[in-house]
Amino acid sequence: SNERLRTTNPATGEPGRAYDPHTIDDARSSAAAARNAFLDWRGTSFADRAAVIRKAAEILRSRQDEFARLMTEEMGKTIADGRAEVEKCAFHCDWFAGHAQQYLANEPIDIGGGEAFVTFNPIGVVLAVMPWNFPFWQVFRFVAPALMAGNGALLKHASNVPGCALAIEQILHEAGVPSDLFRTLLLPSRNVEALIKDENVAAVTLTGSVAAGKSVATAAGSMLKKCVLELGGSDAYVVLEDADIEAAAKVAATARMVNGGQSCIAGKRFIVVHSILEQFEAAMVEAMAGYEMGDPLDPATKLGPMQSVKARDEIHQQVESSIRNGARLLLGGKVPDRSGAWYPATVLSDVQPGQPAHDEEVFGPVAAIIAANDEADAIRIANDSEFGLGSGVLTGDLDRGRRIAAEQLEAGMSFVNENVRSDPRAPFGGVKHSGYGRECGSFGIREFVNIKTVHVK
Ligand code: NDP
Repeated sequence: SNERLRTTNPATGEPGRAYDPHTIDDARSSAAAARNAFLDWRGTSFADRAAVIRKAAEILRSRQDEFARLMTEEMGKTIADGRAEVEKCAFHCDWFAGHAQQYLANEPIDIGGGEAFVTFNPIGVVLAVMPWNFPFWQVFRFVAPALMAGNGALLKHASNVPGCALAIEQILHEAGVPSDLFRTLLLPSRNVEALIKDENVAAVTLTGSVAAGKSVATAAGSMLKKCVLELGGSDAYVVLEDADIEAAAKVAATARMVNGGQSCIAGKRFIVVHSILEQFEAAMVEAMAGYEMGDPLDPATKLGPMQSVKARDEIHQQVESSIRNGARLLLGGKVPDRSGAWYPATVLSDVQPGQPAHDEEVFGPVAAIIAANDEADAIRIANDSEFGLGSGVLTGDLDRGRRIAAEQLEAGMSFVNENVRSDPRAPFGGVKHSGYGRECGSFGIREFVNIKTVHVK
């Protein structure tokens, strides 16, 4: 039952390092130790915490290439994307080091007499269950605000990125995070439920699949513990007849190809009004064809391998089943004859209900073009999804775009004429099966605090 975790380089199929997993008993003692460390940490000043988190940013920047390479080796991210990810984590650390105090400052309220205010106390040790697709960003996105708020944290990372998980622990400890306050646990996911129920764990945050979200929410719910869930997405971009078609296709391809298509906020469905459908198809094929597969260690490469051969095979099945059910293949769609988890940039049109490209999340470089009669029909199709994470509008009329984005798309983020991105300064999260709760910004840092009313008479 204590099988070692073994990594595989997705670009070559070659085995990497092996790691001994932790047991549930290890995890329970880590939770108890983290709870004790939290009782001290909650008493530290924002300035002291900020110094530690700023130091983490410094370490990230000084070892940027090393960490980017680690991601490439474990999950196939291109080196250029890996470097950008490490820099984004450092920026995020600096942002929360600089703004946590303001986000969590007491807020005076008037409840008729005496002195009253809202204060934000940390809640304890938060368990983070994180995915492999942005092995550094997903963790820092959570951990920088969590530690700044005065909480402790335990990380259960995806099983295919143990080296990243341990590197993150080492960065935080070297930066000055007390060693018991933050721990990486190389824990099989079957043990997550027991850890959520452990008395020393106060809350849980998960980024991952809908299935994992349901099981984490069930375990947390059974103990009345709070959880934040950032799950899948099938982001729709509505392309209107007044759009600059070439510019729209570039935004669409950029949105689709984030991290080789393996992103919850990658654009997945492109809903195009009939009058410009043919022109958009041609422009989209051209834009997507610019993403050629290549060695992920080459800084010029825009499309590396998928995270695993298994994941690649699932993507290909979704493409084949969509074609069998009436989709038209415009680009890609063939598994290359080489070892590793390769899949080419792919474009499908005539995508309709009953096809995986329409109904499911496709976690790879596959753009689905869906025809709509007009604006209202396009919005209806965009919202006809189990997911509601990001969304976009591509139009030449900014008032029209603003109205559709702000009022009509059922999603946690809606961007006009650009692709959806996460940012430490803006709340990030979804509705429907994309989950609930928010990360980043003031809303994110306030998820794992006790919002306390104080009245002094
Ligand atoms: P998973 O949801 O399986 O993995 C994400 C994390 O959850 C990992 O740490 C995993 O651990 C853990 N986990 C898995 N099952 C459970 C469970 N029942 N209880 C507690 N923890 C669990 O995602 P996959 O990597 O398998 O990807 C599958 C799909 O999920 C993708 O195709 C995509 O649709 C979606 N996804 C969405 C992401 C996002 O950013 N929102 C990121 C990754 C995936 P372990 O690795 O040990 O199983």
